[in-house]
Amino acid sequence: MTAAVALFTRDLRLRDNPPLRAACKAADTVVPLFVRDTGIDAAGYAAPNRLAFLADCLTDLDHGLRQRGARLIVRTGEVVEQVCRVAHEADAAEVHVAADVSGFAARREERLRAALESAGRRLCVHDRVVTAVAPGEITASGKDHMAVFTPYFRRWEDTHRRDPLGAPRRIGAVEGLKSEKVPSRTRTKGVSPGVPEGGESAGRERFADWLSSGMDAYEDRHDDLAADATSRLSPHLHFGTLSPAELVARARRQGGPGAEAFVRQLAWRDFHHQVLAARPHTARADYRTHHDHWRTGEQAGREAEAWRQGRTGYPVVDAAMRQLRHEGWMHNRGRLLVGSFLAKTLYVDWRVGARHFLDHLVDGDIANNQMNWQWMAGTGTDTRPNRVLNPITQGKKYDPEGGYVRRWVPELADVHKRYVHEPWKLGEEEFAALGYPEPIVDLGDGLDRFRHARGK
Ligand SMILES: Cc1cc2nc3c(=O)[nH]c(=O)nc-3n(C[C@H](O)[C@H](O)[C@H](O)COP(=O)(O)OP(=O)(O)OC[C@H]3O[C@@H](n4cnc5c(N)ncnc54)[C@H](O)[C@@H]3O)c2cc1C
Repeated sequence: MTAAVALFTRDLRLRDNPPLRAACKAADTVVPLFVRDTGIDAAGYAAPNRLAFLADCLTDLDHGLRQRGARLIVRTGEVVEQVCRVAHEADAAEVHVAADVSGFAARREERLRAALESAGRRLCVHDRVVTAVAPGEITASGKDHMAVFTPYFRRWEDTHRRDPLGAPRRIGAVEGLKSEKVPSRTRTKGVSPGVPEGGESAGRERFADWLSSGMDAYEDRHDDLAADATSRLSPHLHFGTLSPAELVARARRQGGPGAEAFVRQLAWRDFHHQVLAARPHTARADYRTHHDHWRTGEQAGREAEAWRQGRTGYPVVDAAMRQLRHEGWMHNRGRLLVGSFLAKTLYVDWRVGARHFLDHLVDGDIANNQMNWQWMAGTGTDTRPNRVLNPITQGKKYDPEGGYVRRWVPELADVHKRYVHEPWKLGEEEFAALGYPEPIVDLGDGLDRFRHARGK
């Protein structure tokens, strides 16, 4: 009997999973392996909200594998060491894994290839698993990536797509391999109350609902904060319980302006992934630096903390920051305006904000998070790097009735829509009775400071 290892990373699904299908084709028996990577804990990226969602994903994956005659093998430790050990125990000739984009993933792949080859085994890396179009597949002439979204998207739309694959019907198991218990969500401490259920089954259900009753209205309603009319598929895309290639194919098949707008967002995801793949250091360093001297010190620290706590005195900013803590998720319009508020109005380093997001987001993702933060800070690929979003006008435009603010900021639950984005206009006594903070910064002063810092 021959054996192969299918190493699951950010592709925790049975359907449209090229590494799993290739492993099944390559050998009589397959070891479906997940390694709980202690390197991720050590780097501080193991946020409770993501660990809870991950536990659901692994439980569901194990269940699906058992229905097909196999089971998930779980090990904890350093990935290269654990994979080599399992490959040795199973006497597997090949290990199949999805290509990924971060510097961490690239180093892991390199070390794993070398270690496996020195033991006479082969590492097979599969593209278009984590993204619909692989990084490096679309490049500007003479360059290794594209830095502007619109031309990228034009080429992305014309790129030939592979057809989504079905799940394997049966998987031949390797007998006698030991596995740790599949982690359970209930054992994870510090999880936000609103973290959704993870796993391929939950993801497919959510996607089916989205196709039947959400996507058509997406183009018109995606920016409406109170309507909450986006797909909320981001955690499933982050953990790969849904395949981006399949989502694109099925949305296109359904068609219409909502589908087109949704597919465009999936292209944004690929866009940011190809930037990070080409410039892995931009997970930490500016993509296009303005040599910012970000504010530090006590006052800036206090303001950043008010931002984290959702107590800046700007209702729409505070609503979004409180949604993040409660759900481990935030509406995209909220992410844009709280990002602008921290990096531009308060002029605090975008890395401070990106870190806080990664501590809480269920979909917290190095490519999407760091690249979007850089976009908002004007250090990334935005072609208008110095635009500043005004939280009052943004609130009035994207939450005109104040429903989003009232949902997340109970102090303002009874405030009329005329004042909900500027409660200080209620008059001194009435405002004081709300128990809601005064603005921590004057927007005009913040704007002047930022423009001065950027020499504009
Ligand atoms: C400061 C900031 C930080 C962000 N951090 C993350 C993050 O850590 N992880 C993450 O997945 N997204 C991040 N985003 C992008 C975006 O806000 C979320 O993907 C989106 O809000 C998720 O909700 P949804 O699934 O309902 O999106 P939908 O609007 O339904 O879009 C569908 C999918 O397209 C992708 N997408 C949408 N917008 C973007 C975008 N701007 N960039 C990249 N992909 C996009 C996502 O995978 C999303 O699930 C960030 C945006 C900003 C401004």
